[in-house]
This record gives sequence, C-alpha cells and structure tokens, in this order.
Amino acid sequence: MDVIERIRAAATRDGAAVAHAYRGERLSYAQLWSGATALAARIAGELRDDGSPVVVYGHKESSMLVAFLGAVRAGHPYVPVDLSWPADRIASVVEESGARLVLAVRPLPEGVSHPGMTVLDAAGLADGVVPSGPTGTPREVAPDEPYYVVYTSGSTGRPKGVQITGSALAHFVDWATGLTNDAGIEGTPVWLNQAPFSFDLSVMDLYCALTSGATLHSLDAASAGHARRRHEELGGSGVSVWVSTPSFADLCLADRAFDATLLPRLRVFLFCGETLSPATARALLQRFPDAKVVNTYGPTESTVAVTSVTIGPEHLDGTALPVGRAKPGTTILIRDEAGTPLPPGEPGEIVIAGNTVSVGYLHRPDLTEAAFTVVDVDGVPTPAYRTGDLGRLTPDGMLYFGGRLDGQVKLHGYRIELEDIETNLRRVTGVQQAAVLAVRGEDGVVTHLHGFVQLDHVPDGSPLAVATGLKRELRAYVPEYMVPKLLTVVDRIPMTPNGKADRRALLTGSP
Ligand code: AMP
Repeated sequence: MDVIERIRAAATRDGAAVAHAYRGERLSYAQLWSGATALAARIAGELRDDGSPVVVYGHKESSMLVAFLGAVRAGHPYVPVDLSWPADRIASVVEESGARLVLAVRPLPEGVSHPGMTVLDAAGLADGVVPSGPTGTPREVAPDEPYYVVYTSGSTGRPKGVQITGSALAHFVDWATGLTNDAGIEGTPVWLNQAPFSFDLSVMDLYCALTSGATLHSLDAASAGHARRRHEELGGSGVSVWVSTPSFADLCLADRAFDATLLPRLRVFLFCGETLSPATARALLQRFPDAKVVNTYGPTESTVAVTSVTIGPEHLDGTALPVGRAKPGTTILIRDEAGTPLPPGEPGEIVIAGNTVSVGYLHRPDLTEAAFTVVDVDGVPTPAYRTGDLGRLTPDGMLYFGGRLDGQVKLHGYRIELEDIETNLRRVTGVQQAAVLAVRGEDGVVTHLHGFVQLDHVPDGSPLAVATGLKRELRAYVPEYMVPKLLTVVDRIPMTPNGKADRRALLTGSP
C-alpha cells in the first residue's frame, strides 16, 4: 500500500484521532484528510497536470501537513521550505525547481517573486479554510513519481533538490516504523518531530506517524532552543518515539531533569544525520532504562536512512559506534576511488544501492550523473548513490562511518557544503575571495565554522565591526546555521595550484 493510501486508511479508521500536535493546537486525521481533499481540488484548478513541484513555506504549523498532503493528492511533489531560509534562497529554490505555486502557511518574505509564480495563502488550511479560486479534478502522484523534493546544500552555492518517489518513501516508512515494533510502546504512539520539515530527517517522524494512525508532536525552533520551554513542551508531549539528531539529544541531556520521569512513555530513540557518540548513547540508556537507542545512517539521496543498529552494552566500550546493517531492499558497497568493490574491513566510499535511492536531483542531470549510478546486485542492475562518505563494513555486514571525502560537513546536524558558504561569501560587497573551515573538537565533531575573506579594499573599523557587517550581508543569502561564527579578514587567501582556496594552508596559519 502506498503512503497516501495508508493515511487515507488511518483517517477512515479513526477520524477523531490526533494526527498532529503543535503548541496546543490539535489536528485530527479527519481534518487532515478533508483539508487535503479540498486543497487538492483547488490546486488542480490552479495548475496544469504537469507534475510541477509545489513549494510549501512555513515552520511546524498543522497547515504544513495539510499542504503536503494536498499537493501530492493533486499530483504534485511538494518542496518544504522553512521559515529560517532567507528570501534569496527561497527565490533560488522556486526558480531551480520550476515551481509555479507557493503555498504560504506563513507570509513569504519580501523579494521572493518569479514570473509565473502564484502564491496562495495557506495559513488556514488546518482550520478548513482553503484559498478561494478555481477548482479541478485532482490526480494523485503515482508511486513511481516524486512525492517530495528536499533541497540540500550544494557546492555551487545553490541548493540542489533531491527527488524522492512515493515508492521509495513507502519502502522507507515500512522499515523505519518496524524499528519501533518490539519496543513496548503502550497506546497510540507519539512521534517527536524536532527537525524542520525542510530537513529530510523529519520525513522519518512525519510519515511513520501519519501512515500508522499515530500522533506527530512538533517542537518549534524557538522551544527547541530554549531550555525551560523545551522542558515544559517535552513534559506535556507524551512522546514515545524520539527522532532527532544526536546534537539535539546532547542539548537536552545538559538538563539534569531530562530523564524517564519527564518522558515516561518514551521507548525508542531514533538517531540519524550525524555521529552518535558512545557518551550520548550511554547517558540516554542510563536516564531512560526502558528505552532503546537506535543509530541509523543515510543521506537525503537514499530517503533518510538505510542502515540501523540498536546500541547495546557491547558497542559502548569502543571509540566509535556502528551505524548499522542495511535495511531490506538496500545493499551497502564499499568502493575504492576507481569504483572497485573493497573486501570487508577495508575503508572506502560508501555506495548505497536499492529501492529507496532517489531518482536524482530535480532539473540537474549534470549533478545526477555525477552522483548516481547503477550497480550489479546479485545479477540485478540496481540504482545506486555514491555518498562521498567514508566507511567500512565488518564481515557480517555492520557499517562504520569514517568521515567525508569532500568539503561537506555536519554542524549540529545540518548538512553544509563549505563551498556553498564560500560562494555566497563572495557575493558580499567587497569580498574578493573566501574560504571556510570547519573547526573540530577533540572528538572530531565540528564545533563551529571559521570563515576567512580577502577584501578588495582596506576595511574601515575594528575587526569585530567589519566581521559583523559582512555576516549581516551574508545572512541575506544563507540560513543562520551557515553563517560562520568567526570571520577573519586576511590579506590573501592562499590558493591551491588548481585555483581553489587552500583550506589546509589557512589551518596552519600560513596565509
Ligand atoms: P543528510 O542528507 O542531511 O541526511 O546528511 C547525510 C550525511 O550525514 C551522510 O552522508 C553522512 O555524512 C552523515 N550521516 C548521516 N547519518 C549518520 C550517522 N548515523 N553517523 C554519522 N554520520 C551520519
């Protein structure tokens, strides 16, 4: 059964059940389904049946869920765009994606416009208010068509849109929901949604919840980042399945009252997106003795996650936790630079093959060809994605993650191409050349970003004032998490022989 069918079945079984809880608002399955039905008809009246993506702009509001479901039930994949994105980035996503419709759950910032783009006010969708205008007969997205497009940092300075089909999503959801099966959850599960919907980790909580008639409990960015509000919000949530980056769990663990007394129904922690340290896993298992901790691994390009392992005492003594074994329908290969498969134990690039691999980047055949391929799995040609991650497999198929082969980093769970920031820094007035370094702590985890810029003039003002001014302008182009904490003006950015900023020379302080 596909994802839409399962949500329909959940709404038919118990329309009064809570689909989404956010800031005291409750959206029932009946409201979700009927709102999406009306919206799908409205979208069908607005757009030709051309499968063009629909941008959905907002944060954690219940209307976001209605908008996602309305778009796919009208035959259009949706592109989730978070409130934290600056206008320039939203505009580039609208342009790159070819979207002709934006559903604005929150008012769009000034400066986002594009010829042929229609903006509909979608704030009232959760309350049954559908934007007025012509309606038509909708056609749902088919399983082999894109269901959503998530944009992720691109090294060219423009984000790239990963297309995930309904079929890939259904395979993923089947498996991910199953990770909670034997956990002893009582009553209707409540899934924690911490990641913004524009980040594919949220797909794990959103669709595992909605396809099984469970409740999604969203924490907004303001509550997540504020100790007292976070504590209160979590305490009233009844969460039984926790989905977040390890960084967010670390933030919560800093509060000594974050334990099973606060979240008595919690039975499963599902992590993905960045390294889970043994210390974090150990602390969680101590504070939540009835819960299991599951580490999962995967990039957006393979639909959230493709490997999993339940962390037990046997893993906690090592310096690094495993990221797990492949889910059914997925094969993990480790290959060398020439693409030759390597034997167990040897480190190389992680290549993911199987039924949840993306069909490629939207409107970017060049990027798609560079990253996606077809490999032979037991004699069957199978779509595969070259992750750019380093890893090794044990002889019994356990995967260990070993860092990146390129300039992509994770900062507090956010995926960032350093070249993305560098390209946007070069757009800032007076910046001639730029380089960005990821600064790591002793455990190898990125603690912050340090940018270096070469200006075309002698700066006026203190180094702090100059850096503040440059950062202010950069914020117009990139989300806050991509703005380097430190920004230093240097006389000259050292360059490598092939014309790229020499990050290594900057690290050793030789510019
Ligand atoms: P994203 O597309 O934002 O989910 O980021 C995917 C990248 O995050 C992967 O290619 C890895 O580099 C990293 N990643 C994902 N899961 C893990 C994990 N469990 N441990 C370490 N790194 C991870």
